[in-house]
Amino acid sequence: MKKVLLVFLTAIIVSVLMACGNNETAGNNNENNNNNSENDEVTSDGNDYKVGLAMPTQSSERWVRDGDNMKAEFEALGYEVDMQFGEDVVENQVAQIENMITQGADLLVIASIDGEALTSVLEMAEASDVPVVAYDRLIMNSDHVSYYATFDNFQVGVLQGEYIEDQLGLADGEGPFNIELFGGSPDDNNAYFFWDGAMSILQPYIDEGQLVVQSGQTEFADGATLRWDGSLAQDRMDNLLSAHYSDEDIDVVYSPFDGISRGAISSLTAVGYGSDDKPMPIITGQDAEEASVKYIISGEQTQTIFKDTRELAKQAVNMGDSILQGGEPEINDTETYDNGAKVVPSYLLAPVSVDIDNYEEILVDSGYYSEDDLE
Ligand code: BGC
Repeated sequence: MKKVLLVFLTAIIVSVLMACGNNETAGNNNENNNNNSENDEVTSDGNDYKVGLAMPTQSSERWVRDGDNMKAEFEALGYEVDMQFGEDVVENQVAQIENMITQGADLLVIASIDGEALTSVLEMAEASDVPVVAYDRLIMNSDHVSYYATFDNFQVGVLQGEYIEDQLGLADGEGPFNIELFGGSPDDNNAYFFWDGAMSILQPYIDEGQLVVQSGQTEFADGATLRWDGSLAQDRMDNLLSAHYSDEDIDVVYSPFDGISRGAISSLTAVGYGSDDKPMPIITGQDAEEASVKYIISGEQTQTIFKDTRELAKQAVNMGDSILQGGEPEINDTETYDNGAKVVPSYLLAPVSVDIDNYEEILVDSGYYSEDDLE
């Protein structure tokens, strides 16, 4: 009996000692992270603060990178991070955010699935005093959005439109060329900015007849792609090709996002585009996803927009950190992003157009991809 008691007591002492050791290690890790971090702006000690990161989906590579980058940056500052992906199901994301609030999150960073579906859950965040940073996608119809970190979304569309303009020589009067237009998800505020930016360049050429939309589908609603789903884009491209391009070739596909571009490419290659007598149309895109950069190298896709998610993550983390530490987040736009309840103070980063001529410089030399990634 004495022996059993001794073993039992020893076990308790050992586990208490181990627990102390763990705490110390955790503390040291935080210190090490702070000291070793490459980010010069890493100054605070986020101990005791919990950050909830609500991300939209892992099905598109960019969001995985955004999430991983933010998580690493927050953790380097000593914050505890709970990151969840809603996998493009709005109810999942709402439940995940509710759960983060219930679990005591001190800050929420949200890249929404449906920017219009979070009004009630943000009321809950407000009632619990949990500040919210909108990440890349604006959260609509709530005044409880403290800040917005994103890219210049109108400029994304402008760069895509200008690329088409340059490639075709539209400013020199070339044409007519056949074009079809895809839009992003109608529940994502960004989709309208991309479309409006692109149309600010393309619409005059459509009006002049230098660009011809054989389908007549020239409004955002005609080309919108719910949840940015590439397979929906593929279906629509199939329909467009069979209904309007049996006698004509298509010269350009305006696509706002790489996943949509790849959907269109599958449809085009299935009917023989990409051969010597039927070249691929010019196809734009966005996000510089690995699969699309490979397509740019092999000639199926023509262009994409690079948005450096490392920079965006840093910006959002600095915003969150400033909020929690009582500082003033850096912003550079106080006019553009009206979410229906307020104009949300924003930080906009610059997007970059990428094609076969500059992908190495922009994507490989900057370390975003290695040469091996793109083989
Ligand atoms: C983002 C784009 C992305 C799209 C689809 C938008 O909100 O700004 O970068 O291509 O969502 O994921």
